[in-house]
This record gives sequence, C-alpha cells and structure tokens, in this order.
Amino acid sequence: MKRDTFLPFHLPSISEAEIDDVAAVLRSGWLTTGPKTREFEQRFAEYVGARHAVALNSGTAALHLALDAAGVGEGDRVVTTPFTFAASAEVIFYLRAEPVFVDVRRDSGNIDPERLAETLETGRRDAGARVKVVLPVHFAGQPCAMEPIVDLAAQHGLRVVEDAAHALPARRQWSDGRWRPVGSIGDMTCFSFYATKTLTTGEGGMLTTDSAEWADRARMMSLHGISRDAWKRYTAEGSWYYEVLAPGFKYNLTDVAAALGVGQLRRCTEMYERRRRHVRTYGEALADVEAITLPSEEPGVEHAWHLYVIRLRDEMLTLDRARFVEELRARSIGSSVHFIPLHLHPYYRERFGFRPGAFPNAEWIYRRCVSLPLFPDMTDEDVYSVAGAIRDIVKRHGR
Ligand SMILES: *Cc1c(COP(=O)(O)O)cnc(C)c1O
Repeated sequence: MKRDTFLPFHLPSISEAEIDDVAAVLRSGWLTTGPKTREFEQRFAEYVGARHAVALNSGTAALHLALDAAGVGEGDRVVTTPFTFAASAEVIFYLRAEPVFVDVRRDSGNIDPERLAETLETGRRDAGARVKVVLPVHFAGQPCAMEPIVDLAAQHGLRVVEDAAHALPARRQWSDGRWRPVGSIGDMTCFSFYATKTLTTGEGGMLTTDSAEWADRARMMSLHGISRDAWKRYTAEGSWYYEVLAPGFKYNLTDVAAALGVGQLRRCTEMYERRRRHVRTYGEALADVEAITLPSEEPGVEHAWHLYVIRLRDEMLTLDRARFVEELRARSIGSSVHFIPLHLHPYYRERFGFRPGAFPNAEWIYRRCVSLPLFPDMTDEDVYSVAGAIRDIVKRHGR
C-alpha cells in the first residue's frame, strides 16, 4: 500500500484539446480580451443559469467589482465569516468598508443563518452599523443555506454577493422543490479559476448576475472605468473614441486564458463526476475509521466537492493536526489546511482586537481539519493509498 511516487494535494486536469485551443489563440493575432472571452462568458452564464457573466482575471477581482456594483463604500459594512481565504474579506477593505464576521456551523463550515439573523437584528439597532451586503462563502463547495440567507437579506434591504470560489458546479434545492445552481441564486456570484479550483484558467474569475446594470458596471470597472471595451475600440467594429466614467481597475481576462476556460467548461460536469467518484471511494475506504470524521453532503444539496476536508477526533488520537499532515507527507501524500480563520491573523488581531475564542466554531474546525487530495485525474489506487496511509497513522497514533 506504500506509494513510490508523491501524490500532490492537487493537480490541474488539462486536456490536449485545451492546449490546442490555447495555441490557436496564440497564433490568431488577438491575445487579450476579445471573442474567446465573450464566448466563455456566454457559455458560463448558460451553464450556471445566469443572464450575465463578466470574465475577470481573478476571483478576488470578481468579489471586488461585485461589492462595488452593490454600492459598498466608505463606512459601509459587509457581513461574512472568518472561516475563509484572505480574499473574501480583503476586498471589503479595498472599498474602505469593514467586515462584520459571523461564526460558521460546525458541521458544514458555512455561515450559520441563525447567527446571521441575530447579527442583522443587532446591526439594525446600532445606527452606526451600515450593513449593505451579506457575503456567504460556500465552504469546500457545499452551498450555504441560501434560502434563509436570501430571505434575511430581503427583510433587511441588503444585497447578497456569494463567494463561490469553491462551488462550481453546485446546486441547492428550494423549499418549493426547485433546484437552483450556484451562480443563479444571489444578486451576484463570484467564481475563481485559480490553478487549484474546479475549473482553471491559470488565474481568472467570473461574476454572474441577472442584472444588466451590475454586469455593465462590473465590465466597465474591469477596464479602467472606460465606456467601451478595448477590442471594440481597436477593431473595425469600433472607433478610436472612449470616455473614462470612473477611476476603474485592470481586471479583464485574456483570450489566452478564456480559450482554456471554454475547454474546461466543456469538461466541467465530467470532471465533477470524477471527483464525486473519488468522494464515494474515500467514503467506502474510510467508513470504519472512527478517529476521523468524513465530510458529508447535506440533504437537498449538490456539493461541488472542490475540497475533501476530514476532521480529526482529537480525543481518539495522540497526534495533533500539524503532526498528522507531516505523517501524510512522510507517506508521500500531500494535503492542506482550509482555513486558518481570518480573525487569528495578525492584521485582524491588531486592527479589531480579536482573540482566540472570538469565533469558536471556526476555530474548532480549524484545529481538526485536513484537506485530502481530490482532483479528477487521481486514480482509484491513489485514493486507496491515501486511505491506507490514514489507517496506518491512526493505528500508530490512536488512543
Ligand atoms: C480561491 C479563493 C478566492 C480567490 O480567488 P482568486 O481567483 O485566487 O482571486 C476567494 N475566496 C475563496 C474562498 C477562495 O478559495
């Protein structure tokens, strides 16, 4: 059962057809935002059931422009969770607004709608609390309880901007029985195409929305706040004239990246089916290992399975999480930890005075969580070798 090659935590799945598609763009004479990017946007919007999709050069850019389009500005507040990556909250500071953290549920790592309701009620009484947006993060690819979140936002007159960096493709069933894909639920949804995500363009992102107004604003702000797209300006279709309507950013996606995106999107469902297969195999191979808790899919949910996050039951083990990660590595298996809660990082501690204990559920998961390798091109044998390594570690370090 011992591996003779190292199994990385993640490897992207890139087909020869995708390499050919990228090469074709390189030979075409048009490298930056153009027809491939438009095609990627149209296909992506269709895939997630949104009216509009705006391609950007990162998921972080999508979050930034979504908050901008939602009208977040100086002194405003955005509610999110501390159990996420730096990007989800840093964009709030870009706009001189402040995050308000709500703790997550221990089972899913997702924002707890009951705590969200309490926070919004408290915020209402406090005149200084200018909450504009709720920003749920679909941890590991399992969609948050969006129905109560959307209802709460409507009650309080807030916008919902989803961090769906992990959640392509994912769906959630509504109480009327309808299934809604992530990307078509909140006011705006932000996806990431970073190298480790479920669809990659190397670096890239997408903002989806049903609102033409927000899509137009995001598109304009993604290219210097200029009133017309560059490729229209420089091709026969457009003229040389443009106007700067706002001091925007440089967030557009290249056609080189979009060509990869179109190919990846074509295989998105197939890659998802392969991850699901590995999740089933992990589940079968690790079902009787009592010292760890396996991740699960809630009823009425289609989990994207970007991450496979197990939790260590510390009362049954003599080693901590850091040692567990080292023991996996010693057995030629890469792994990772998602996430170090934001409020424990120096910037947040110093600026807001957060101390350990401030968000107990996020910290509880953090101390116990390990993300195992999960990517389409793994083999069944790879999954069995991880399970075998875990059994060995648990046998040697069990209580
Ligand atoms: C990856 C990630 C992002 C940022 O995406 P980039 O494309 O790297 O900018 C945002 N939020 C979460 C939760 C992520 O995992």
